[in-house]
Amino acid sequence: MVNTGSCLCGGVKYEVIGPLRPVVYCHCEQCRKTSGHHVAASSAPRNKVKIKGKLRWYASSKTARRGFCPTCGGNLFWDGPGENISIMAGTLDNADINAIGHIFVADKAAYVDICDGLPQAAQDDETITTMVKPTR
Ligand SMILES: [Zn+2]
Ligand SMILES: [Zn+2]
Repeated sequence: MVNTGSCLCGGVKYEVIGPLRPVVYCHCEQCRKTSGHHVAASSAPRNKVKIKGKLRWYASSKTARRGFCPTCGGNLFWDGPGENISIMAGTLDNADINAIGHIFVADKAAYVDICDGLPQAAQDDETITTMVKPTR
């Protein structure tokens, strides 16, 4: 199984070999500030993600960096501790994946009403971020 993705202008493209984790919504302040909303992220083992093009990295904390396209500004990756790299789900080309939950809900924007019935965690939550199958 190979999934593909890109930024808006196509200056950065990538391939993911093998399965993608279902989508987790992250409502943390960093995700809000970098995306303009909350983030919907899949993920995959770092060594299964082949990135081509002029991706740039921004060190968003001491332990993580965010990958973006310097031409169109598209947000593509969050690369932090652990073996997986997060992939912004909207940049995937028609990947067949479901969403599994919300993290950092304590930081969510006031205008966001979560009404999808998926599990919610106030902060980070490994039971959500390591799920491999949708809950419904
Ligand atoms: Zn671009
Ligand atoms: Zn976040």
